[in-house]
Amino acid sequence: MTDSPRIHLGALMRSTLDDAQAEGHLDHLQYEQGGETHTLRFAAPAPFEVEVNTLGGSEMYLQGSFEPVLIMECARCLRDVEVPMEVQLGTLMRYEPSAEQPYLEEAESGEEVLVFGDPDLDLSAYLAETTLLNAPLSVLHDEACKGLCQVCGHDLNEGPCEHMAQVPVEEIDDELGTPSGSLHAKQNPFASLADLKLPED
Ligand SMILES: [Zn+2]
Ligand SMILES: [Zn+2]
Repeated sequence: MTDSPRIHLGALMRSTLDDAQAEGHLDHLQYEQGGETHTLRFAAPAPFEVEVNTLGGSEMYLQGSFEPVLIMECARCLRDVEVPMEVQLGTLMRYEPSAEQPYLEEAESGEEVLVFGDPDLDLSAYLAETTLLNAPLSVLHDEACKGLCQVCGHDLNEGPCEHMAQVPVEEIDDELGTPSGSLHAKQNPFASLADLKLPED
C-alpha cells in the first residue's frame, strides 16, 4: 500500500533514463481545494500505473491508468455508493523549479499541462482531479431511493416516519416555501395515505 502516489523523475530529467515508471495501490487520496484538505475514499485498494517519457527540455508526457472504486454519497439518503471507474491518464508535464505544489495549467493549445517543481513528484492532486473529472456529478444508491425525512432526517427507505410532507434532500432548497399538498403530495409516496387521515374542513 502506498500513502501517496509518487514518481521519481530525477534520472529522467538528468537524461540517465528515457522513461520513468511507478505503480502501486491507493486506499484513499487526499487533495487540497480552497485551502481545505479533502479525501477521496475507495472501496478497495485502487491500482495505478504511470509512465513518464521525456519530450526534450523540461517537457514530459505522462500516461497510465487508475482504477478506483470510488465511494460517493447517495444524493438523496447520503449512504455510501460504490462507483467503479477506469480512468485513463494522459497529460503533458513541465518542470518549473519555482512550482511549490504540482498544479494543472491550461496551455494555449487548450491541452492541460501538469506543472511541477519537485522531481520526486507527488501525483495525489493530479490523480484526485482526474478522478473527479471522470466521476458522475451525483449518484443514487437506488433509482427508487426515497431519501431522508426533511424534518427528522429519518431514512425513508427503512419505512415512513411521522412527518408526511417530506421531500428528497436534494430538492429541499428548491421546494422550500411550497405549500404542502401541492408539489410535495405528488412526490411523496405516502401522500395519499396522509390525505386519508387529514380531517376535512
Ligand atoms: Zn439513497
Ligand atoms: Zn420525519
